[in-house]
Amino acid sequence: MRTVIYPGSFDPLTNGHLDVIQRAAKLSDQVVVAVATNESKKPLFTVEERLELVRTAIKHLPHVEADSFDNLLVDFAAKRSAVAVVRGLRAVSDFEFEFQLALMNRKLNENIETIFMMPKDTYTFLSSRIIKEIARLGGDVTEFVPDNVRLALARKFAKGN
Ligand code: ADP
Repeated sequence: MRTVIYPGSFDPLTNGHLDVIQRAAKLSDQVVVAVATNESKKPLFTVEERLELVRTAIKHLPHVEADSFDNLLVDFAAKRSAVAVVRGLRAVSDFEFEFQLALMNRKLNENIETIFMMPKDTYTFLSSRIIKEIARLGGDVTEFVPDNVRLALARKFAKGN
């Protein structure tokens, strides 16, 4: 059983994330989408909300599940007996940070590999940050996020949060 972990803030999940999840599912027996607590990033959605949004959006995908973690990623990956961590690479600008993170994770646990996946080209410009900005300003995000995320964003901004 080859499990891979796809960690991130997922604040909120986008179609770019879903694209990476589906690619990772083809390579492994099980994908665990791991929602990082990341309170220092001041997320728009709580970790419980982000986890629920992911769970609803992946319901139709076999061998994909979601969990949250607030410890070291390599420790969480070891606990889940994962062979690799999956990260998405959109552009050269992602590379520097991702490269650092991958090498640091290898230092912390040399048994866990990092796999980078490129999304479909139409998703390379997508980020959770931009989606939040568009939604906050009343723009249409239908093309970019699953429907449950679109509704959650609309509710969040309607409340004036
Ligand atoms: P983090 O805060 O850990 O960067 P994110 O939720 O922003 O969490 O991203 C999680 C992972 O998904 C990262 O590897 C990021 O590069 C990748 N990612 C984010 N958006 C996309 C996208 N549109 N296409 C492919 N990968 C993406």
